[in-house]
Parts: sequence; C-alpha cells; structure tokens
Amino acid sequence: MFLSAIPAADGPSLQGFSPDSTTSERAWETKFKAIPSADRLREYMQRLSARPHHVGSPYDKDNAEWILAKFKEWGLNAQIETFDVLFPTPRERAVELIEPARYTAKLEEPALSVDPTSDQQKEQLPIYNAYSVDGDVTAPLVYVNYGIPDDYEQLERLGISVKGAIVIARYGSSWRGIKPKVAAEHGALGCIIYSDPREDGYFQGDVFPTGAWRPREGAQRGSVMDMPIYPGDPLTPGVGATPDAKRLPLSEAKTITKIPVLPISYADAQPLLAALKGPVAPANWRGALPMTYHIGPGPAKVHLKVKSNWDTKRLYDVVARIPGASEADVWIVRGNHHDAWVNGAEDPVSAANAEMEEARGLAELLKQGWQPKRSIIYCVWDGEEEGLLGSTEWAEAHAGELRAHAAVYVNSDGNGRGYLQMSGSHSLEKFINGVAKDIADPEKDYPAFKRLRLERIANAAPADRDEIRKRGDLRIGALGSGSDYTAFLDHLGIASLDLGYGGEDGGGIYHSIYDDFYWYTHFADTDFRYGRALAETIGTVVMRLADADLLPYDFTNFTDTVQKYADELDKLWKAKSDEIKERNKEIEEGVFSAIADPKKTLIPPKVEDVPPFLNFAPLRNGLETLQRSTEHYEKAAQKLTLDKKPLTAANRSLAQVERALTLPDGLPGRPWFKHQIYAPGMYTGYGVKTIPGVREAIEQKNWKQADEQLVRAGKVLENEAAAIEAVAAELEK
Ligand SMILES: [Zn+2]
Repeated sequence: MFLSAIPAADGPSLQGFSPDSTTSERAWETKFKAIPSADRLREYMQRLSARPHHVGSPYDKDNAEWILAKFKEWGLNAQIETFDVLFPTPRERAVELIEPARYTAKLEEPALSVDPTSDQQKEQLPIYNAYSVDGDVTAPLVYVNYGIPDDYEQLERLGISVKGAIVIARYGSSWRGIKPKVAAEHGALGCIIYSDPREDGYFQGDVFPTGAWRPREGAQRGSVMDMPIYPGDPLTPGVGATPDAKRLPLSEAKTITKIPVLPISYADAQPLLAALKGPVAPANWRGALPMTYHIGPGPAKVHLKVKSNWDTKRLYDVVARIPGASEADVWIVRGNHHDAWVNGAEDPVSAANAEMEEARGLAELLKQGWQPKRSIIYCVWDGEEEGLLGSTEWAEAHAGELRAHAAVYVNSDGNGRGYLQMSGSHSLEKFINGVAKDIADPEKDYPAFKRLRLERIANAAPADRDEIRKRGDLRIGALGSGSDYTAFLDHLGIASLDLGYGGEDGGGIYHSIYDDFYWYTHFADTDFRYGRALAETIGTVVMRLADADLLPYDFTNFTDTVQKYADELDKLWKAKSDEIKERNKEIEEGVFSAIADPKKTLIPPKVEDVPPFLNFAPLRNGLETLQRSTEHYEKAAQKLTLDKKPLTAANRSLAQVERALTLPDGLPGRPWFKHQIYAPGMYTGYGVKTIPGVREAIEQKNWKQADEQLVRAGKVLENEAAAIEAVAAELEK
C-alpha cells in the first residue's frame, strides 16, 4: 500500500502556492487522483485501436467524433477543428533484386491468427515512408550502415561512392528522415531502410507473437518528411492549412525527399544484403542477420519504385476548453495525438487514453466546484505520425493567440511500465520534479521521483552519481522533435513538457500492424496501472499550472542548464580542434600510409585547416546577465506573500518569458525554428541540439557561422534576463 511516502497536507507549500492555497490544491488533487480508472483506460484503448485509424481513414474521423462525444458527455465545451493537408498514400511500390539473382520483396506484414486485428488488410496503410518523392530507379546496391554523415566519411575512406547507387540503411541511430536526406546529398538515386534484427528483432528477444519483438516480416512505416526544416503540411509552412490558406505548388514543397524511399522487413532485406560483395563491413556496421555483411557496390542490382497518390486529406483535431476563473487569458495547453500508422495501441493510444481520463477527471472536479484560475485547453491531435500535422497546423492557425496567452504546453505520446521520463523546458525542471514527488509509483511503495532517482544512480556514469545524489532536482532532457510539442516550443516559444512512463518492457511493433490491443495487453502495461499513473501525473501537472498563485517557473535550474550547455560547446570546439591537429600530424608522420594494407583500399584523410579560436564572450556575458536576473527574481519571489495581492500582471509576464528565447528569423537555413536554445538536429532529426545555432556550426566546422551564432545566443540570454528582470520588478511593486 502507498501511504506514508507522499508529503502530508500540512507539509511545505507547493511551488507557487501560499500555505492556504497549498491546502486547497492538495485536497483537489487528492480528489482528482482517485478518478482515473484502469478499466476505462482499457475500454478506450480497445475502442480507439479496434481498426486502423491513419489520416484520411474512416476510423480516424470516427475516433475523433467519439472522443468529442465523450468530452461533451462529461460536460466539457469541445469541438473539432479541421485542416486540409497534403497526404501521400502509395499507389505502386516495388523493391526487386534483379542481379545476380532475382528476388521480389513482399512488402507485406502477414496477419497472425492469435492477433484478432492483424487481418484488417483492407484498411491498413501499406508499408511505406510518407512524403517520399515518386521515383523508379534501377542501380547497384550499397550498404551504408545507419546512413548518417559519419558512415559516409567511413565509406569515403574505403573508396566507395554511392553516386548513382541505391543505398540500403538500417533503422536506428538517427531519425529515419535523415537517411534519404544524407543519401541524396551524396548522389544516391534511391534509399531502402530496413529493420535489422540486432536492434529490432530476435537479437533483442523472442519475436511476436511468442514475445514482444519484431517478427521477420514486420516493418516500420514512418514519415521521411524533412521535418528539421519545418514540420506540418508541406504546402503551408508557417500558416494553418485552412481552406483559404495560400498553398505552395507541390514542386516547391521543401520537405519532400529528393530520392524515393521504402522501408522493408529483415525478411525482405536479407536476400538483398546477402547478394552484396565488396569489402566486409566494419565490425560496428554488422547486424544480426546470419551472414557476413558486405558493403558493395554490387553485384547486387536493385529496382526501386514508389508512386503515391498526392491527395489532400482532412485532419480532425479535438479541442476542449475549460475557462479560467480569474486569469482566463493565461492558457495551459495539453495534447496527445489520436491518429496512428495502423491500429496504434501503444503509439498513441496508450497515452491518449490517459489524456481522456485526465479530461474526465477535471470535468468531474468542475462539477464539484473546482475553479482553475487559468484556462485549460485539452487537444487530441490528428496527423502526428506523418509530420506533426494536426498540432502544427493548429499552432500555426492560432499563433497570435497562443503567443499572447499560452503559458505551458504539456505533451505525451505513448506510455508503458517503468520510470517517469521527463523532458522539456528547464524553467519547468523544478516544477516537474515537484510533481513527480507526489505521484505513487504503481510497482513500488514510494513516489515515481524516488524510483527514477535510484534508477539514475544505478545507470549513471560514475562521474555523474555524485550530482544525482546531491542535486535536489533530477535533470530533465531537452526536447528535440518527434512529437506534437515541436510547434509550441520551437516555433512559438511556449515552455513545454513531454512526459510518459517506460523502460521496463521492450518491443518491436513500432509503426507496424502488430501495434495493437492484443500486443499491448500481452506485452506492455497489461493492467493499465501505468496508464493510471500517467493520467495522475499529467492531471496534477495541469491542475498545478492552472491553480498556482504564481506560475511555477524556476530560472535557477534553467540558468544552470544553459551554463552546462555553454561548457559543452567550449569542449566541443576544443575536441574538434585537437582532433584536426592530431590527424594532420599523423598524416605528416605517414601513419595512414603505414597502416594501409596494399591489398585493400583505405584512402588517407586530407589535411584540414586548424579551427580558429571562437569568441565565446557574447554567450558568457549573456549568461552573467541571466544569472543576475535569476538571483533577483529568486529574492523577489521569496519575499512575496503569495495570497496578499493578485499576481495577474506578473503571471501574464511570466507566461511570456520563454518567448524571449526565440528570434524572429530563426535558425540558419530553417527560419521556422525560432527557439535558440532547443531544436532538433539538422542531421539527427528527433535528437536535440542545444544552443543549436552554435553547436551545429561547430559540428559542421563552419567557424564564421559559429561566431555569428554565439552573438545571437548571447542576445537571447540577454533578452531572457530582461524578461525575468521585468517580472522581478513587478513582484516588488
Ligand atoms: Zn506517436
């Protein structure tokens, strides 16, 4: 039983709450936490994942209408907002080995008799990568490992070019959209992506339906839209895809791939890879197929064909609004998507069902007399899978209001058993740590926070353990991309959180027909206890953000984190510089020619210019100013007696603070991404780059741009400091 570990109602005040309002908040939260029900979570999952429900399918619309009806039944003011977006679905697909032997890839996942929804072929989207350009190419095959920039450097040293070839890359190490992008940059004509059993199959565990892992013929669908440029409808960058929106012609859409791409299973990949000769792949390029991995090119020659219907499809976003009682113009926005690639029990229903239980819980509290100070908006997005379509179009359509009113966006996208995964804006780090201390872990008799802290100690590098033990708050991850927070955080500068439980169950059903109710109820959070925990966690987050006397941001942890990023950048420059100097020296010494086996090709690297010193002063100065404002704010907030006066003006200003971290012209080459502290990497996709302008310039050895970006990073820190300073002054009034 879970009794003693949660602070009692007479414990210390909650962050941003007076002692009195803490008592009342805790009472409402206790009522709320009793509401989410495992039985209902199971029921919602069974209903929402009963049939395939991708964008444009009948069941996608049906689900949106069903969620809307539920929201209304619970007494919430809700409606559906629609957008019309470009959404390609495949008309012709082919992967064929034509030399030295013939093999035609099946490109199909078989139905399994034990799995009752796996046979809904008529409604299933075929295996494909959405937003691949149309193409029909025949060329020699080259194996490129994960197909990330480092792999091409390796290929160059081995004297292998992919120019005029079709590349085959395994899933992993980067977001999938990076693979065709980098392949095209190196002159490849086509790209095949497959799931290797090493990362995603029998090497990991028993395969479905015996175990949770990807079966031989299972494949991973997914978008290859160039989302690091901009997500959302490719034809309406920066504006909502409403009926009257100006649309780009298809030929000008920047986020469609340059070469055709298809994903395949390892059953389909094996004959292709086995037909490759040429050098044996380096040890860390080898997967778990029972064969020797070669790179090619050839003699394997492959025919790859992709043709899509380039249709416009309608999105159905469900949006419910709870008006705030005293600060209605400050908004807390909560979202999770409802669309899936196929049946999508895990992705996204395992967290969408929790979102629904939160909404039902809050609706119940409203009937009992709960009055949130601020307005709450519950959104259930459509079209996340193909390119964050529903959330991006909604955020772009409402950009003006959101910039004026939104304080925080809270996201989830999938859930499982295990540890609370916390990522987001570091101004909310202290806050989310506070919530995690008040949530019971379903499998242990103590809070989710304590379990996560102990897990971090168990798995930390020795050098980091001390910090975990000493620092009051656990560090939260920075957000890259890969879910619906992207438009809110990166485009609009709204402080965001992304939350979910996981880490105890693995699985290989991601974006396949086997991500369904049968799989989830056999191999994941089978009794929905972690579904309940997620509803409790995010419901508490939303309530605290909506009810606090003073919005619970904390800039000390933010400043500490940016300090860490600045130190990392220093080290990154130093490491690059040392690496180039060392390599130049080895070239001069003849190291590379000495180790070259004359019977194999190994091309020595070229001498490179040693990097110039960079000017970190603007960034360091920005940090100094930020440090001073943060200290000032802390003092002002501590002196404040929270229930003595309304803090409306201060809260309005606080909601704007994260906006100061954006610049209107965005990041180099991608103006849609306006946040200067967090962004998805141009060459990592989902993976975050912090202080991205500077970090990516250093990684790409663009030293002039690095210096320019250091000035801009310094400037947003000065802007942030000024915004914090203004709130501190407001609090002292
Ligand atoms: Zn998802």
